[in-house]
Amino acid sequence: MGRPACLVCGGRAAVYVPYLGGHLCAGHFVEWFERRVRDTVERFGLVEPGDRVAVAVSGGKDSLALLSLLARWSGEMGFEVFGVAVDEGIRGYREYKLEALRRLAEELGAPIHVGGFKEYVGFTLDEAVAVLRERGMEFSPCSVCGVFRRYVMNRVARDLGATKLATGHNLDDEVQVYVMNLLKAHLEGVAREGIATAAGEEGLVPRIKPFYFVREKETLTYALLRGIWTPFVECPYVVYALRHVVRHWINRVASGDEEAKYRLLASKEATRGLLGGAGRVTRRCVVCGEPSSKPVCKACLFRAYLDESYARLVADRVSAIWDSLDREARSLLRRVLEEEGGEAGGER
Ligand code: SF4
Repeated sequence: MGRPACLVCGGRAAVYVPYLGGHLCAGHFVEWFERRVRDTVERFGLVEPGDRVAVAVSGGKDSLALLSLLARWSGEMGFEVFGVAVDEGIRGYREYKLEALRRLAEELGAPIHVGGFKEYVGFTLDEAVAVLRERGMEFSPCSVCGVFRRYVMNRVARDLGATKLATGHNLDDEVQVYVMNLLKAHLEGVAREGIATAAGEEGLVPRIKPFYFVREKETLTYALLRGIWTPFVECPYVVYALRHVVRHWINRVASGDEEAKYRLLASKEATRGLLGGAGRVTRRCVVCGEPSSKPVCKACLFRAYLDESYARLVADRVSAIWDSLDREARSLLRRVLEEEGGEAGGER
């Protein structure tokens, strides 16, 4: 069997693209990747003229590649673009990623805004993990990090007047979240996680995912071919991430079956269709006033868990609505307040 050749020009193959059933050379791969993402953006109306698009940038290859693509298209498509990063306060990791981010932003001429956990929720993640360890690690650092990150990201993007929040989630991320939601029987999460969230939910910047149909391998190859640099450092808490386990499991199951992830994505979309699509957030948290699907948002529950004085504030606010809280919220608050000899809720 001869060496594989590019489907377009017959030149030296660089990447196998299962979606096309063949290989592409470096130049045609870059062209194909950009066209596919642009088609996604246009077909689903993800960005419109006049939009102010905040790109959620973690400093990883996907978000940097997305910022670079949207910055290039912004003039021609008539929208503004800027980056929003969250500094969780993870020493030995975040500072290196922020440096890569600032470097790329300077090259692109796109402003970057950084919001920190410390400033918005009162803790760095390192400080939160110290408390979690004292309390026997009842929650993983990633659960706390994910909830606080979404909270901070939305607030920063909204305060900057963003009309869309674009994330670099790719096809692999999407199927991982799908499997994680299934493992937790979290069907509301399955229903909500599509290519875009519904517009018009007060206080929530609508989210869009232009890389929804491209695989992790493809965004990595694209970033490499485009010379997008990011330091190879890993978060020290990655070992606690359920996503880490699920990712390896899916990769093992899908190994040798290049189309398996596409089928998983198709199953996810079919399930979302059966569930009736995106769930909407219709209320505000009674403690912080931010959008929430529950009376008390998860960020406030975690803050209460980590900080006694915040727990007392939450207790004051929820005493009148204790019966409307779900079991998870009540048990979490009861645990904190009982330990601290608190009143509201603890005695019920
Ligand atoms: Fe946060 Fe976990 Fe990701 Fe680290 S691995 S950045 S703790 S979600």
